Amino acid sequence: MSFSKLGLSAPLLATIAKSDYTTPYPIQEAAIPAILAGKDILGIAQTGSGKTASFVLPILQQFQQKPVAPNRFIKALILVPMRELAVQVGDVFKLFSAHLPRPVKTLAVFGGVSINPQMIRLRGVEVLIATPGRLLDLVANNAIQLSDIDILVLDEADKMLNLGFKEEMTRIFDLLPEKRQNLLFSATLGKEIHTITEMLLHDPVKIEIAPETENLDLIKQTGYRVTEEKKGPLLRYLIKSQNLKQVLVFTSSVHKADSVVHKLKQNGIVALALHSQKSQGARTDALRYFKSGEINVLVATDLASRGLDIPALPVVINYELPRSPKDFIHRIGRTGRAGVEGIAISFVCAEDDHHFRVIQKKMGKWVDMIEAEGMNLHGY
Ligand code: AMP
Repeated sequence: MSFSKLGLSAPLLATIAKSDYTTPYPIQEAAIPAILAGKDILGIAQTGSGKTASFVLPILQQFQQKPVAPNRFIKALILVPMRELAVQVGDVFKLFSAHLPRPVKTLAVFGGVSINPQMIRLRGVEVLIATPGRLLDLVANNAIQLSDIDILVLDEADKMLNLGFKEEMTRIFDLLPEKRQNLLFSATLGKEIHTITEMLLHDPVKIEIAPETENLDLIKQTGYRVTEEKKGPLLRYLIKSQNLKQVLVFTSSVHKADSVVHKLKQNGIVALALHSQKSQGARTDALRYFKSGEINVLVATDLASRGLDIPALPVVINYELPRSPKDFIHRIGRTGRAGVEGIAISFVCAEDDHHFRVIQKKMGKWVDMIEAEGMNLHGY
């Protein structure tokens, strides 16, 4: 199957051809023609499935036939649970809208940063990607009108509910016109999602993509049995001796993330931290520098890493183990994606032994262990 069979227009196909999207992923194959036909969609799919382009491409195509909307009147609304995802979705819109004959202005907005610059940048925006709270703030400020929305996308709807956005979502739905197309994407299909789909979707096309955990086969895992004091030298040894250029390191606390970064820098390794106590600007910058290769190591906590998507990330290191096996799978699943192999390394202290066994059992894979005690880490 090729992108040209999905009903996309020549300018979009030309942009796709210039990107690294060679063949459509299954979700794109199923969703793009259905969205172009005006159908509602229920997509059960996770980050990594290619769900973003599955709605971005047909939405951009639909705009090619639309008159330009009056200022402040948003035509397509993408609701997302958090800032990082808003930025990522915004980037995919920018990637594919760069050379369209009929330009489509898109903007990602989210809380945690000042609202005024966002209000200024809203001029002429037709596609808005927003977290629920910030969207309602913008409505309250009369900065946008939602009464002309043609298409609503709920991305990672289950996460939005988990983060407690139910009330905000309902308030937003009340502001939308009756007649519109609805696309809902969720990694899971629980009771609450079911209620929302019943309320929102009309005769949807249901697309289900196998969850990410099945891709663990592409990840080569190693564990190092190591004492707490030797974790720092071991990390630096691995990075320097293997000349690692792009490493995502996970810690359990903000404090530990900062101290790991500090030590790496002292030892001449270019690193930044990504956690909830960094400003939004610092987080966006850290991610951008990491993706572009300007820094080699990003040290993140679990919360800050939700939905992180770094194409072809080669190495993930668990400096500390997460509490839940689910978080472990999520962390290592940042690598070994889209058919590209990855490496996941876990540091395991003696007191983590039992916990690490539980993680391996839940994941259904046993990890080869190396004793760091016998390694010469002198000088690292
Ligand atoms: P998503 O699930 O939308 O977050 O996409 C996951 C990753 O797959 C992103 O890094 C995309 O750039 C990449 N991707 C999505 N679709 C394709 C495709 N058809 N070919 C190659 N890469 C893709």
